[in-house]
Amino acid sequence: MPPVTKPGHEKYDIVFIGGGSGGVAGSRRAASYGAKVALIEASERLGGTCVNVGCVPKKIMWHAADIADKIRHAEGYQFKGPGIGQPQFNWETFKPQRDAYIRRLNGIYDSNVAKEGVELHHGTARLTSRTTVQVTRPDGTTYELKTDRICVTTGGRPTIPSDDDIPGASLGINSDGFFDLESQPRRVAVVGAGYIAVELAGVMHTLGSEVTMLIRGETVLRNFDPTIGETLTNWMKHTGINFRHGSKVKKVEGAKGQTLTIHLEGGEKLEVDTLLWAIGRHANTEGLGLEELGVKLDERGNVVVDEYQESGVPGITAIGDVAGKALLTPVAIAAGRRLSNRLFGPAKFKDQKLSYEDIPTAVFSHPTIGTVGLTEPEARKKYGDANVKVYKSSFRALYFSMVDEHHKEPTVYKLIVTGPEERVVGIHIIGLGSDEVIQGFAVALKMGATKEDLDNTVAIHPTSAEELVTLR
Ligand code: FAD
Ligand code: NDP
Repeated sequence: MPPVTKPGHEKYDIVFIGGGSGGVAGSRRAASYGAKVALIEASERLGGTCVNVGCVPKKIMWHAADIADKIRHAEGYQFKGPGIGQPQFNWETFKPQRDAYIRRLNGIYDSNVAKEGVELHHGTARLTSRTTVQVTRPDGTTYELKTDRICVTTGGRPTIPSDDDIPGASLGINSDGFFDLESQPRRVAVVGAGYIAVELAGVMHTLGSEVTMLIRGETVLRNFDPTIGETLTNWMKHTGINFRHGSKVKKVEGAKGQTLTIHLEGGEKLEVDTLLWAIGRHANTEGLGLEELGVKLDERGNVVVDEYQESGVPGITAIGDVAGKALLTPVAIAAGRRLSNRLFGPAKFKDQKLSYEDIPTAVFSHPTIGTVGLTEPEARKKYGDANVKVYKSSFRALYFSMVDEHHKEPTVYKLIVTGPEERVVGIHIIGLGSDEVIQGFAVALKMGATKEDLDNTVAIHPTSAEELVTLR
């Protein structure tokens, strides 16, 4: 069903602003209880960041890169023939194929929303009062929706430095621009050291680009357990990714689509085809009319909400990236569903809210990372050194036994426990399959598992995961 062009109801029970992970999940759940629900999306495509320029196309690219690695590894398994050992990736033909899949997903989102009875509006939303939302359609016409409640689910967008701060900064691209690249850049500089920097650098390098990481610190992923950041940084270097530590871009010269010259503080110059900024994201809250209504924003523009996602201004809630906490799709979805359960669901859900503790996460680096709970420094700070014990194991996954020395990826598993009962408070793993392994162990940690509980679970052999139930 195409989006409607005028309000279908005199008044709505709730209006969701933003049709990304949180808005789609929350609006569908509310409508499933019979609530009158409108969902306003500025873009022609539903799904938001995750579907269009985030998790989904990123993971597809990760799979492509993983296949390139497998083609390299195949030699060790005695596969012979043209191409074995030398992957040839065709970015030009792969991109339209990837885009077509995303378009199909957009269509599925459209029909799921319609099936559930959510009224979809296409336009840019702005709050004009606590109970009215103005929609500006792409042709510039406007209309208003009246509603009892408003949920802000406008997500965020990549941060890039201004040209005033770093002349020529806008010659670089961000993660949105990465997904627009029609061909594979030959030489790339990536500024940043977080999720996006390591994931996209990993994809491009594994597919054959020459990548240089421009990072401020000694390792990537400084917000993760140090073992993870160190292991990944060392492996990235081993595979041939260049690193400039403590680096700061001073100026960028050149023209879009041509060679760029990056001037670093200290005098070094770097010539690249693409400069990718991956230095974080910020909330889409400008121009929404929130502050005029008394809704508090923090210094980064995130909507400040309580544990029930309430802004403090009656009727106005916010979920997902725009609320600035754990910027992950399953978090936005879970918060949206819980909010709608609480507001429109059966009595048993009247106090439902999302717990932001112990949220598991994976990084689709090469190799992948899985993590849940406290890092070692966090655990030591919270419980004291005497009450923290660390179990750690470094090994090579069996898969690599047949692969040449240069390509043998590391695996490191780390378990952090506290107290005499050795309750597990942190699990940090890097190595083949870690993205898949962590989910089940996150359930155990969330349930309060102790080291003994893990030890009492019979291992599955031969896997990497079994190491987590046999650590000594
Ligand atoms: P969004 O999905 O950003 O949706 C917000 C929507 O609001 C957008 O569609 C926008 O057009 C719309 N909007 C904004 N302003 C208005 C307005 N005024 N009126 C109407 N509509 C408006 N998370 C994971 O869990 N796993 C991953 O592997 C992962 N990979 C990622 C890779 C990349 C490159 C990026 C950038 C992010 C990744 N994320 C990942 C994070 C994930 O994409 C976000 O956490 C998630 O999309 C947040 O959902 P949301 O609903 O809060 O916001
Ligand atoms: P992150 O917050 O993960 O990382 C940004 C990093 O860039 C910082 O940690 C910092 O590292 C560095 N940085 C910050 N400012 C500057 C600067 N001015 N110059 C140089 N470096 C700087 O942000 P991302 O953009 O990578 O990702 C945004 C969010 O999206 C993530 O936090 C995550 O929640 C989500 N995401 C999730 C994914 C997943 O689930 N797999 C994948 C991709 C994104 P340092 O301090 O070390 O310099």
